[in-house]
Amino acid sequence: MHKKTLVLPTHRLIYRLFWLLILPLVLAACGSVPTTAPSLQIDHSLTAQGKNSRVRHIVLHYTVADTPRSIKILTEQNVSSHYLITDEQLPTIYQLVDESERAWHAGVSQWYEHTDLNTSSIGIEIVNAGPLDDGSWAPYSREQIELVKQLVRDIAERHRVTPSNIVGHSDIAPQRKIDPGPHFPWRELAQEGLGRWYDEALAQHYAQEFQQRGLPSVLTIQDWLQRAGYASPQSGRVDEETKNVLAAFQMHYRPGRYDGQIDAQTAGILKALLYPKPSQDS
Ligand SMILES: [Zn+2]
Repeated sequence: MHKKTLVLPTHRLIYRLFWLLILPLVLAACGSVPTTAPSLQIDHSLTAQGKNSRVRHIVLHYTVADTPRSIKILTEQNVSSHYLITDEQLPTIYQLVDESERAWHAGVSQWYEHTDLNTSSIGIEIVNAGPLDDGSWAPYSREQIELVKQLVRDIAERHRVTPSNIVGHSDIAPQRKIDPGPHFPWRELAQEGLGRWYDEALAQHYAQEFQQRGLPSVLTIQDWLQRAGYASPQSGRVDEETKNVLAAFQMHYRPGRYDGQIDAQTAGILKALLYPKPSQDS
């Protein structure tokens, strides 16, 4: 008994010391992944009905570089696109970024209320030299355009991208970009439902009205540009930024002249886009 009463407090002391020292270590270890923990088990047997694609836009570009250089830039630098269409006689479509991931092709951008188009778009780069030294523009080959149409149709159908959201880099970043340039055949694509276009007879009708009665005010044009999706200043003046937006609009819808000036034909096209029926006049 005597011996036992002497030994027991020592045991208790060791016992208490053990928990005082060890317990905090045990608790701290709870924050890390125990090496013996079972792997995360997720049951994939159920699928929800309420969902849709995060892709809202398709953005077209040219690369201003030949095929080998375009591949190098788009695969090795901090710029990329989901697809690259080369310029060989039989062009290749490379997929460089999975559609579920964000490619870095749009930069600072806006289309309607959407900013940061990288997050909501699929980017397609087409190998093309863009503006040439003599003032002309490098042409796209027929083979490239046919592939562009097939690819855009496939993406638009799968992600339900609407025609007005199939755009060029210059449409979404008119202060910085001019691609895919005036040679990109927007009208041809739109005729196949792959983009937005206007009733040409109605645009001509509006243009004649503007010629006879005078042009809309600058503020009206700026308002129409904004309502057509463009990030336009609302300054009431044809400032440099507004000229850039007008030039981007013209490259897309009237590539024959893209001087950034307001004229009756440009105003007529804008109005025909916004008011496709004459009775819905402004
Ligand atoms: Zn671009």
